[in-house]
Amino acid sequence: MVEMQTYDVAVVGLGAMGSAALYAAARRGFRVIGFDRLEPGHDCSSSFGESRVIRLAYFEHPSYVPLLRGAYRAWRDLEVATGERVLTITGIVEAGHPGAALVEGSVRSAREHDLPHELLSPRQVNDRFPAFNLPADWDCVAQPDGGVLLPEKAIGLFVAAAQDLGASVRLNTPVREVQPLGDRVTIRLEDGMEIEAGSAVLAPGPWIRDFVPELGKRLKLTRQPLLWFSPVHADLVRADRMPVFFLQSSDDLTYGLPDMCGSGVKAASHLSGGDLASADEPRAEVSDDEKASVRAILQRYVPAAAGEVSRTSLCVYPTSTLFSGCTLRRRKLSWHRHARATASSSPVSLAKSSLTSRQIGAPAGRSGSSTLIGC
Ligand SMILES: Cc1cc2nc3c(=O)[nH]c(=O)nc-3n(C[C@H](O)[C@H](O)[C@H](O)COP(=O)(O)OP(=O)(O)OC[C@H]3O[C@@H](n4cnc5c(N)ncnc54)[C@H](O)[C@@H]3O)c2cc1C
Repeated sequence: MVEMQTYDVAVVGLGAMGSAALYAAARRGFRVIGFDRLEPGHDCSSSFGESRVIRLAYFEHPSYVPLLRGAYRAWRDLEVATGERVLTITGIVEAGHPGAALVEGSVRSAREHDLPHELLSPRQVNDRFPAFNLPADWDCVAQPDGGVLLPEKAIGLFVAAAQDLGASVRLNTPVREVQPLGDRVTIRLEDGMEIEAGSAVLAPGPWIRDFVPELGKRLKLTRQPLLWFSPVHADLVRADRMPVFFLQSSDDLTYGLPDMCGSGVKAASHLSGGDLASADEPRAEVSDDEKASVRAILQRYVPAAAGEVSRTSLCVYPTSTLFSGCTLRRRKLSWHRHARATASSSPVSLAKSSLTSRQIGAPAGRSGSSTLIGC
């Protein structure tokens, strides 16, 4: 008879969230195993596309700020542990029409948490960062802490560092089912193999309904086009001359990142590019209208960036419901509603909402638990 393999923690999905969980568990000395149905850095879900924004004063809600404070520390810890750079501070400018919720929200977060920020006139922004041409009546706030993360590199580092600490990793290995069983959790693989763990961290991104059908319609999947633009003035859009930006015009919320590695300025709409029924639903290519729409915004407000579209890609936002995770205990879900986890917050949302000693390595006799993260 083949003996079943046992671990303290099993992590399902090794995107930004799962790879951070794998590393966090390995660092705490747990026997951990991680699975992904594909190879890390693949372009089928949400943790790819060269860059991700990190910002401290969240316009969405001040309750994100403590999570982000910890995330900045955790990203720097990863850099120290690996000797590699994943976070570049560029600052961020958020600007919008008078009374824009984007600017009001960031200023509120900054004030409530006493974060460095500057209220600037559009003219001051345009003078300081000549890539911009913001309208004279817009509201603007600049945060010095905004920056850019490299998601594919971060995932590779998390996985490699976890392996160095003894973690097992199975790639191209889809997990079919995770079932609490007494005080443990059973992980069933597509090939029929079973693995036992004290706890499971479920981080399958947009495939989360495969494990928790109870999520049902609470989980909304949206297609999100990403576009890269050849700059009109390459010297003005480099990371040392142009910050990350969010712009709230009358009909769109657009964000963009400076040219980090010669691939152009990445820009996209933060609004939905269409609902997806499932993560596997084929996604319509980025249309000419979508390209023209983002380019028109850049031509108007960030003209130095608004050259030809050089590349496009399609990503998935897993939900619009606010929660960073929910705990599945004997098929009962309890929701952590305070914040939506994002790539930038992954190291700390994991540490806070999942990898507590309460849930991992729980003493024998307690029920096995799974923590669902990343929506
Ligand atoms: C266009 C776009 C822009 C974004 N911009 C930002 C930003 O600027 N800043 C920010 O902080 N966040 C941003 N986000 C959000 C952020 O990227 C996501 O929150 C984050 O990447 C989600 O990571 P994840 O690990 O939860 O999910 P995913 O990246 O989707 O990873 C899930 C993994 O689980 C694996 N998996 C699924 N099912 C199984 C299974 N059955 N068995 C084994 N493995 C499985 C998948 O293969 C995948 O690798 C953006 C998202 C998008 C789409």
